[in-house]
Amino acid sequence: MERTLVLIKPDGVDRNLIGEIIKRFENGGLKVRDMKMVAPKKEFVEIHYAMHKGKPFFDLLIKYLANRQVVAMVLEGKDAVALVRKIVGTTDPSKADKGTIRGDLGNDSREKADAEHRSIYNVIHASGTPEEAKVELKLWFGK
Ligand code: ATP
Ligand code: MG
Repeated sequence: MERTLVLIKPDGVDRNLIGEIIKRFENGGLKVRDMKMVAPKKEFVEIHYAMHKGKPFFDLLIKYLANRQVVAMVLEGKDAVALVRKIVGTTDPSKADKGTIRGDLGNDSREKADAEHRSIYNVIHASGTPEEAKVELKLWFGK
């Protein structure tokens, strides 16, 4: 069994998608092992997304999450990291496959985000690799 970190980002919380999102993970065979609602400080979000430091969208990404309510959860299952990424879909919701969370529930695009000088709003964060998952679970849940 493998564990991974998922965040329901502020747009997902604001749009009342928490229940729908958890249902999709549970239906996909994942177990929710821990969960909390928090508004992470700017410095905390900067650590979480440290891998993107220096990229053009970094500051916009920090602004998207800092001091806003997110739901953080630990999901467990076989090949959980890859399975969760598959259920979530690709970064740009306008390009994400139908049947994925971002494809079905996302309402944003890279083009819209660029035009409005903000981060892409895409409902979910999910750890990208098992190594990232270990670091992120430690950061968010201390385990
Ligand atoms: P996440 O890490 O949040 O699960 P991801 O792995 O699909 O998303 P990353 O490349 O890690 O995508 O980017 C992190 C987040 O930064 C994206 O989810 C999105 O919110 C934002 N982002 C990525 N690329 C851009 C961009 N070109 N313009 C604006 N925002 C972006
Ligand atoms: Mg990522």
